[in-house]
Amino acid sequence: MRLIYDLDHTLVDSSHRQATLPNGNLDLAHWVENSTPDKVAQDTLLPLATVAKRNMGRCEVIACTARVMGPADYDFLLDHGLLFDRILSRPEGVQTPDAQLKTALLWADAMDLGKSFYRYARESLVFDDNENVNITLTSFGFRCYNAISINKELSA
Ligand SMILES: [Mg+2]
Repeated sequence: MRLIYDLDHTLVDSSHRQATLPNGNLDLAHWVENSTPDKVAQDTLLPLATVAKRNMGRCEVIACTARVMGPADYDFLLDHGLLFDRILSRPEGVQTPDAQLKTALLWADAMDLGKSFYRYARESLVFDDNENVNITLTSFGFRCYNAISINKELSA
């Protein structure tokens, strides 16, 4: 079993510095402007992060994010005990919408593992707040869960 977690609005509450476009994608320009180390350090963990941490070391746990990861982002994850087996993230300068970006990142991860994308998908659970991502990945055979409703249930 492989657990695949998005970061923003799934494991990490970065809402104080984030703008999401109406289609659910990250507003990249706004995001980059607000990704200073000071602001990143003010992010907090969402309830699902506790579940993710509990599974680390027990099964494969991967982050799959539309962020361009910088040093402050990696520091934040380490400081909060989020020790992923792999972190898949947006390459600098790539503007691809989140759903297509994540499909490509996961496809490449499957190839690295020497698995067919279908087999990789069948072994994976995905947690993401972006319904476009969940719909797209479901079409490839991933089991996807809406992180917003899970976080709501966990905090109730
Ligand atoms: Mg998200």
